Amino acid sequence: MRKLRRKMKVMKPLQSNQRTNLRSHAQPERVSDLYRHIDKIGDEYARALKRQVVKMRRILIGAYRTKIAPIIRRYEAEKSKVEKLATNSADEELEKILERYSGLIAVEIAAVLYAMEALFEPQAIGDIVSRFTSAVSEAQRRILLAEMMEEIGYINRDARDNMDYGVDEIVSEYLGNNLEFLSQTIPAEYAERANRSILDGMCKGLGVMAIGAGLQLYAEMSERRAEFIAHDQTNDLYLDLCERRQKNMDCESFEWVQRPHLSKVPRPEHTKRNGNVYRWDTGADDGLDEWRYPGEGYGCNCIPRPVFN
Ligand SMILES: [Zn+2]
Repeated sequence: MRKLRRKMKVMKPLQSNQRTNLRSHAQPERVSDLYRHIDKIGDEYARALKRQVVKMRRILIGAYRTKIAPIIRRYEAEKSKVEKLATNSADEELEKILERYSGLIAVEIAAVLYAMEALFEPQAIGDIVSRFTSAVSEAQRRILLAEMMEEIGYINRDARDNMDYGVDEIVSEYLGNNLEFLSQTIPAEYAERANRSILDGMCKGLGVMAIGAGLQLYAEMSERRAEFIAHDQTNDLYLDLCERRQKNMDCESFEWVQRPHLSKVPRPEHTKRNGNVYRWDTGADDGLDEWRYPGEGYGCNCIPRPVFN
């Protein structure tokens, strides 16, 4: 629908006085270039978080070599002693040994977690996150103005002057919540996975080398998870800013735009919504999906384009 509208505008012959209008000189790619810019911001943020995860891995692997592996070796030695004796109470005894050594490992993991958490404290990543939030905000602002230019042919100055009302609160609230989420989630998940993987390996009798190799695997999972979180947070903030600024500019509705090239598995429900117009106050109340706004669902790369009155 929207594309058709645009095409018709282009097909109308230009009046000579319109030729000086910026619109006729604007690059047709401009808005999509700006969208690529916002995706780049998300990528950069993902890389920054991944760097912190790589540091977490170094802490874990260091602690594994120096503290945890020796505990596992002592456990294995004690275990094989009991197994050789093969007494009636062997099973009971093995269980006790495992319990004792897993307690020792839990202490080491707690120390690892403490060091990891420091990597996600506000003083460590506050700059990264605040640079990211202001970059998203600035890019979203530019996109909205470019959309207005493209859609109605000029920038309404009153609307532009009103667009930032309440945006600072959104950004600072987001910044606070985001820092809290990151510091609580990423290191805790990583330490929990590492702990489980070590105990699992001990129960299976995998040995120090194989357990260590397993930890590398979990590190990669955490890196992917950090990447995912970064993109999800980019979409969340972008959506919140779109809603506030579009409403400030008196846009009551938005057009659902799917960007299937960005998702491995684009949601078919969102393909059905692509190009439809929904009201901001209700969202897409079609019952197709629990997520009513573009970019809201996990891994959803859809965006709300403004519909100007
Ligand atoms: Zn989507």
